[in-house]
This record gives sequence, C-alpha cells and structure tokens, in this order.
Amino acid sequence: MSESASRQALLPGHYPTIVKSREHLGKPPNLLDYEAARAAFRWDWARGLLDGLPGGRGLNIAYEAVDRHAKGPRAERHALRWIGRSGAQRILTYRDLQAETNKFANALLSLGLGEGDAVFVLAGRIPELYIAVLGALKAKCVASPLFSAFGPEPLATRLKLGEGRLLVTTEALYRRKVASIRPQLPKLAHVVLVSEGQQGAQAAGDVPDTLEWHQLMAAQSPDFEIPPTAPEDRALLHFTSGTTGRPKGAIHVHEAVVTHHITGYYALDLHDDDIFWCTADPGWVTGTSYGIIAPLTNGVTNVVVEAEFDAATWYGVLQRERVSVWYTAPTAIRMMMKLGLEALRNFDLSSLRFLASVGEPLNPEAVIWGQQAFGQPFHDNWWQTETGGIMIANYASMDVKPGSMGRPLPGIEAAIVQRNADGSVVEIQEPLVEGELALKAGWPSMMRGYLHEEERYRKSFAGPWYLTGDLAMRDADGYYWFVGRADDVIKSSGHLIGPFEVESALMEHPAVAEAGVIGKPDPVAGEIVKAFVSLNPGFTPSEALRRELLGHARKRLGAVVAPKEIDFSPALPRTRSGKIMRRLLKARELGLPEGDLSTLESNAE
Ligand code: AMP
Repeated sequence: MSESASRQALLPGHYPTIVKSREHLGKPPNLLDYEAARAAFRWDWARGLLDGLPGGRGLNIAYEAVDRHAKGPRAERHALRWIGRSGAQRILTYRDLQAETNKFANALLSLGLGEGDAVFVLAGRIPELYIAVLGALKAKCVASPLFSAFGPEPLATRLKLGEGRLLVTTEALYRRKVASIRPQLPKLAHVVLVSEGQQGAQAAGDVPDTLEWHQLMAAQSPDFEIPPTAPEDRALLHFTSGTTGRPKGAIHVHEAVVTHHITGYYALDLHDDDIFWCTADPGWVTGTSYGIIAPLTNGVTNVVVEAEFDAATWYGVLQRERVSVWYTAPTAIRMMMKLGLEALRNFDLSSLRFLASVGEPLNPEAVIWGQQAFGQPFHDNWWQTETGGIMIANYASMDVKPGSMGRPLPGIEAAIVQRNADGSVVEIQEPLVEGELALKAGWPSMMRGYLHEEERYRKSFAGPWYLTGDLAMRDADGYYWFVGRADDVIKSSGHLIGPFEVESALMEHPAVAEAGVIGKPDPVAGEIVKAFVSLNPGFTPSEALRRELLGHARKRLGAVVAPKEIDFSPALPRTRSGKIMRRLLKARELGLPEGDLSTLESNAE
C-alpha cells in the first residue's frame, strides 16, 4: 500500500464504528461513562487512590507498586509471573517482590549509591531487571532501563548522557556490548552481572571490575524502609530520539505513578483479579510504565515473557496463563494477522477480556481482526516517552472507531494546534483539520525535563501547551486520528529511532562521505530504516560495500536501529544551510511529490 493510500485508510468514516453493548463488556468497566468521568475528574482524587508513604513521608513509585500490597491482603498474590525463553517459570508474590527489591535497595546503599544516582539496567526481560528497577526506586536512585538489542554505540551515548553510576546487566551482554565501551564511562563505578546457575555465577565472579548479582544480593537484608520521597524527586530516565543531535533523556518523577495507576485503571481497565500481559520491553517506556509499574500499583498479576514474538509461544502464554488483559503493539498484531486465524485454532483464549495496543498507528483492519480472532477489537491508545503514560485511549465502555486513537484521558486536555512563525500556537477548532497534537501541561507523569538540555525542553512548549511532534486531527465526536510525525524520527516495529544516530554511525565508516536516513513504509514493521549514502573519493558503489556498511551499522547500533536497506547516491540533497533533506529523500523513494524545494542547495546556486 502506498503511503497516501494507507493514510486514506486511517481517515474517519471508512470503517463502521464498533458499538459497545452490555454483552460486549462482560465485567462493568472501571470507566463506565466517559463524559461523566471526565466532568468529575480531579488529579487529587486519582492521587487518593494511592497510599503514599506511611507517616505522610511522600510518594514513592515502588511503595505503591510493591510494598503497599505486600503488607495487605494481596501479599501472597502473584505479582510477577515470569516465563523464560526455555519455558522455565519463576513466580514472585508481592511479598517476595518486596523482599527482593528491598535487598537490591540495600545493595545500592552498601555500594554508596543513593538519591539521584543513575542505575541503568541492560537485560532482556528477566526477573532481575524488574527487581533492579523497583529496588533502585526504593533507594531513590534514578532508574533507567536500556534496550538489550542496542549495540555498543547507542549504549555508550545513553550511559554517558545519563551519567550512569551502576549498571545491572548479564554476563553475555557485558562481554558483547559493554566491556569495549567501559573505558569511555569513568562515572560508571559498578557493574553487576546476572549470571545463570552456579557455574555462571562463578564465571561472572571472574569478570574483572564487576560484581555478581547473586553474591551481592545474598549479603543483603530483606528489610528496607523507603526514605522520605517527595513527589517531585527524580525517579526514571527514559531516552527518546529527536530528528537531530543526541538522544533526549526524558526525566520523570515519582509523582508519575498517579498517571500510571489511573491509566492502568481507566485505559487498560485493570480489575483486581486480572492477569495482565504487556508485551513491550522495559527498554522502551511502555515496558516500564505498563510492563512494570501500572499493573503492580493496580495489584494484578503481571505476566512477563522473555521470548520475542512467535505466534505459537504467544498464544500458548495467553492460554496457559489465562491472560485477561493484553497490551501489545501493531507490529505484533500485523504479524499475527499474516499467520491467519488458522494459527489460533487450537488455543483456548476465552480468558481474554480486554485488548489494547500502542506505539504506532494501528490500522483499522487490525482493530477489526481482533474481533475475528479474539472476539473483541484491539483498543488503540496513544502516548509517548515524554508523556510518561497513556494520554488518549479507546476505553472499554466507549464505541471504537477503527483507525482512531480514541479520546483524551479524563484529566487530560488535548488540542490540535497550528504553530505560528513567532513560536506561539493557535488551536484549530474545526473538526478533521490536520495540525500538531498538543496537551495542556501539568499532568503528573509529564516529563520534568530533558537531561542537560534546557533549551530543547523549553522548545517543546508553547504557552500552556506541550507540543507532541505528532500530526493528528480530531473529529466532531472528539476522537483523535493520527496522521504522522511532524519531524523525521522513524518508528520501526514500535521503536522510535533518530535518523541522526544512524547517520552518525554510518559516517564513521571510511567509505561514507554523507548519509541520510529515512523511514520507509513497511506493511508489517510500519517503517523500516533506510539509508542513502554518498561515498568518499576512492570508493565505488558495490554489493560488497553495501553489505559491509549494513554489517558495520548493525555491529555499532544493534539490529533494531541499524538500516535494513542502503542505497548509494552520488550526492545527497541538502538545504542551503547544509542539512540533509530527508523529506526529499523520502518523497523520491516513495515517488511522491517533492514539495517545496526553495531551500534546496542546488536551487540556490
Ligand atoms: P515513544 O516515545 O518511543 O513511545 O514513541 C512515541 C511516538 O510513537 C508518538 O509520538 C507517535 O509518533 C507514536 N505513537 C505512539 N502511539 C501511537 C498510536 N496509538 N498511533 C500512532 N502513533 C503512535
């Protein structure tokens, strides 16, 4: 499908609305009446659903996620149900999770770490990742999970920028990706290696300048009192990409838990006895806000699956674990659609009662396929790293318009705006007019800054509005429709990729003179990363060089970020100010109109 055709298909009115009826709903949804909930909503009320630290000592994410349940009637409930790649299971009750996270918090203290120190985690979805993030929050460190498929270069950039003091990783990842960059990271005082089994522990114990997780944890007390935590104390650091420059470190504070909790309750409709599965990796914000925090604050059982997508594995998990609420992503849904209904035939998925999706445009066909495959539509919702939690959603009780992201969360004011040349914005009131999606600043999980980048942060706001960088429109019923990005960042399989990071890695190769990177539409991944390169004198385009460049990028950046396609080009189009015109590269690649070329360098000459 061409880009314009796929955009057409997302427009309102192409697919009939899915009307929710009582039998659709089963359990009464937490948000029964959208308008009424919106009218009555107060953030103070949402905050009142949480306990706060005992004795009025503040608000700490990990206390709300773990300790308050561990000391109440949910203590023996499964908090984490982990399913390993080999099928192994590990279950942690809320009480177990409290003890483990306490031990890790004590370990951090024993190493001299505390308030504000950055604790990074680089691991696949293993229990230690969850323990480390929550333990770090208890110790008032700033937790930052990294995506384990990143190559050494994105890792070094983020660890440097975030001034990581301690890294929890696995022995294998350390040897492959971290050991080589460690000399660049003088602030990284401690590396803790998680190893498998006794032999692994011994081997990891032998890696110079590292500690071994099990040994470190064995020495710690399972008791820990969370120190007073102000709601504005820093808690999480998530990296995201822009069009230019280095990645942005979005800072989130403990108060974000108010949004995590209420969105788990309203947008994911979590009920007390739910078994919840979020398929996202905590290396991306969804995997933290909804793969760790929201299900736990809501006291449900959180299923964690280490394996990547494979239909039989995933359907097996849904059936065996009796998953009731499932939060996944469009790329995975499209992969399931490709396999057809036949692949589902032998699975009993009757436990599923609510399906949600996030991270990239969810095509209407995928929403509808949910009904055929699982008896109900996928409920799309929208948010981003900077917003910290779901902002726009299709709620269980609300009619679904396939292709729409839904309506703003109660407590969130959204608008479609037009930027003026002076930096101010005007709201577009008419329905179905395209503009930038903006949110009225001030919700609890709004980022509090981009680390060390005050100016970049400031530029994200105009008056009271936070500008999301997404283009969208609103229909007459108040439903929002995603149109595209206002900038050049790429969404591939749900992962946000900054073209600049990819271009920089390509340009480190001696053959490359300049590089321009775009997102090329792909029927399954949404977009794939495609690079155009021009070569230095002495190098000529060849298949062998293309393969070499693909391999070079893959090694530096990791498979997810590296380009899947590279084209050679004698010269790349640039603006008069010297910026590569990615927009033009993309238009040419897709055979679309080239648009305004007045700033093109060659036109200026
Ligand atoms: P990230 O910060 O990595 O979570 O990426 C956020 C970006 O993903 C948003 O700004 C959108 O461009 C895109 N995105 C997230 N959710 C949706 C959605 N439901 N529909 C379309 N795009 C989405």
